[in-house]
Amino acid sequence: MARLPEYEYRMPTTDADRIRQSIVFKLIFILGVDPKDAKPEHWLNAAMFTARDLVTESFLRTRRSHIDHKKRMVYYLSMEFLLGRAFTNSLINEGIYDAFKEAFQQLELDFDTVIGEEEDPGLGNGGLGRLAACFLDSLATLRIPAMGYGIRYQYGMFKQEIIDGQQVEKPDLWLDKDMAWQFPRPNKHYPVAFGGQLHIEDNVRCWEPAEKITALGFDEIIPGYGGEVANPLRLWTAHAGYLFDLADFNKGDYFAAMRNQTSDENISRVLYPNDSTESGRELRLKQEYFLVSASIQDIIARHKCRFDSIDTLADEVAIHLNDTHPVLAIPELMRLLIDVEGWTWEKAWDTCCKVFSYTNHTLMSEALETWSLDLMGRMLPRHLDIIFEINKIFLDEVRALGLFDEDFIRRVSIIDESNGRRVRMAWLAVVGSHKVNGVAKIHSDLMTTSIFADFAKLFPSRFTNVTNGVTPRRWIAVANRPLTAFLDKHLGTNQWRLHLEKIAALNDLVDDKAVQEEFAEVKRANKQRLADYIEKELGIKISTEALFDVQIKRIHEYKRQAMNVMHIIDRYNQILENPDKDWQPRVFIFAGKAASSYYVAKKIIRLINDVAEVVNHDERIRDLIKVVFIPNYSVSLAQIIIPAADLSEQISLAGTEASGTGNMKFALNGALTVGTLDGANVEIREKVGDEHIFIFGNTVEQVEALRQKGYDPLDYLEKDPDLRRVVKQIVTGFFSPQEPNRYADVSQAYGDYYQVMADFRSYVDTQYRIDDYYRDKGNWYRSALINIANMGHFSSDRSIAEYAENIWNIKPLTEAELPPEDDRFSISV
Ligand SMILES: *Cc1c(COP(=O)(O)O)cnc(C)c1O
Repeated sequence: MARLPEYEYRMPTTDADRIRQSIVFKLIFILGVDPKDAKPEHWLNAAMFTARDLVTESFLRTRRSHIDHKKRMVYYLSMEFLLGRAFTNSLINEGIYDAFKEAFQQLELDFDTVIGEEEDPGLGNGGLGRLAACFLDSLATLRIPAMGYGIRYQYGMFKQEIIDGQQVEKPDLWLDKDMAWQFPRPNKHYPVAFGGQLHIEDNVRCWEPAEKITALGFDEIIPGYGGEVANPLRLWTAHAGYLFDLADFNKGDYFAAMRNQTSDENISRVLYPNDSTESGRELRLKQEYFLVSASIQDIIARHKCRFDSIDTLADEVAIHLNDTHPVLAIPELMRLLIDVEGWTWEKAWDTCCKVFSYTNHTLMSEALETWSLDLMGRMLPRHLDIIFEINKIFLDEVRALGLFDEDFIRRVSIIDESNGRRVRMAWLAVVGSHKVNGVAKIHSDLMTTSIFADFAKLFPSRFTNVTNGVTPRRWIAVANRPLTAFLDKHLGTNQWRLHLEKIAALNDLVDDKAVQEEFAEVKRANKQRLADYIEKELGIKISTEALFDVQIKRIHEYKRQAMNVMHIIDRYNQILENPDKDWQPRVFIFAGKAASSYYVAKKIIRLINDVAEVVNHDERIRDLIKVVFIPNYSVSLAQIIIPAADLSEQISLAGTEASGTGNMKFALNGALTVGTLDGANVEIREKVGDEHIFIFGNTVEQVEALRQKGYDPLDYLEKDPDLRRVVKQIVTGFFSPQEPNRYADVSQAYGDYYQVMADFRSYVDTQYRIDDYYRDKGNWYRSALINIANMGHFSSDRSIAEYAENIWNIKPLTEAELPPEDDRFSISV
């Protein structure tokens, strides 16, 4: 006989008892697990279902408000969203963190063990994807009517293992564990077509595609801080099941009809693990179009559902393109408006130019996306046709101005005729958007004087800057509990979480010795946590008394991890030569993935590990240097490492790092920066003041001047015997005695494009200055506090407020527009 459940179910509130009851209910009735047998992963899933109920309630309320008040919406299109774990973040944003901790205590579960079970969805490579994730947090927190669109890759960013000092890539099976967080939306599906023929009759275009697959939506709910608003991130997965070949099926050939399904589903199989450099592969173009086509169809469907007519699209909708990856959205919207809705070209183009805006993320020419006309024509013939027409009309207009020569016309043409005829995706983005922004002041300035200089003449008001930011919820409240307690104590609760600029009040306390000591204790606790992690994972013991010197980010030549290693080698040499000097102990911490096909980056990882092997085991060094490479950099790992850093390495060649956001996370957590005048480092210096940041190296102008006169690394090697010795040790195998030639090929091919030799001396001298500064701990922590206090500008809330105001023209939901509190979706059984 059936028995009634012992646990009554109601919507959990902030009450720990009710939360406990709800968790047990989910465990039994959703997961079908006996509490007696439940493992931490089961408890995690049960707790996530409980937390999701609350987030879902916010989400449904939010959606009602958008519809009721006919809010203009922004759609954020990105190939990457590097969200990090959802659970703790949602508890903090919903204000139920302490209540959940108490419920876990009542259930006699260890909170940290359970939350450690959550997969970290790696649907992005690095900074670009993490920026999109911080932006979603801020959009919800600022109550901006918004929705993200991305791809639900079956395999996210690969998992990195280090075996014999080398990177080994392992698949990331993040979907294999129960994902309690996402809602499948079986009724949100759209066909996405590829290939085939374009027929043109009487100037009417008819595209007959060769294949069609289905995009299926999954919603991940993104809670804003304060629990009032939550927005969806809709992730598409490729599904072959809806559209199989009916002709084959009707012939009774079931297997032929199903045959192509697995290859079709490859589209959303795996994230391309390249950072900054595009690989130009056919499947990647398919992925980009897949994202764009499903999202634009969905945006149109949503608009039609909310409003009487599609004519008002530009009044109600803004669409943002995160880099050029989703730029096919422009010809896709043109296609749908003209071929499906029957609009004229002029009307469709007018709408496009009002709707789209685009963020540029890099100036490096090797990273600018282009696609061959051949590939584009084969895969998307109608879109190529539209791009030609956009280009023709655009170039005619430019010619009509009568101000520019044919060379100028060639330069601004969307079709590059010089490299085997290719579509320049960034050019298409500029021509089809009403606003184009860079991601830090220096980057936006360089953008309009270098790659987009010609366009800046044509459209001076189109270009603007929005300096990147990071969310203080994840990067302080989730990542750094000791600092959270410290800030709450001194600044009052919650102010800084929503208004990071209010953190400036800390400036009044920086001279207080007791406050400095309290902050030192915060730092020590975080350093201990990281030391414990390193000992547990790698078996390396480090002392929290040492200066923690940290460089964590994608491994790339322009970021110059190699220069960091060369400083370590020089320091090793100097210690052996002057053993009695009063050396400051340092732990050099690295983490980061190299694109699997990026040979030099992988060699840099190996060099770091080779140097670690020698230096860490040389007894003469007496632990004055420890080198640690922590495998598998990810958002979760960043949350452990960043709070523990004393020194933040932001040492890219000036002019190469568009903004950086790692630099902001570190300063916000009280690390001092050693950096070049590149990206957002420039603005961080303006805010924290010259005395509290260590700037070194050539400026953008000096880098450019060196390039002009013909940069020669040998000039620096000849002048600097220490540098010469370091380079010689690397290339002659001092750190790889088993294989002396290991680094010979890298150095031979090396023209030092990123000018490491030019900045080396200035970098090393600055590092000695840092040692001296660190000796006076009171003063160091004072500077750390000044860094924290002056980071208000770098909240992603500020970035998003600027986008909303200057680019999207979107107004947040007002207090009055939210449904009343008692209008809850309450359930009881
Ligand atoms: C912030 C972040 C990045 C970007 O770091 P940069 O130093 O700005 O390159 C990359 N990956 C992860 C996981 C991050 O959290």
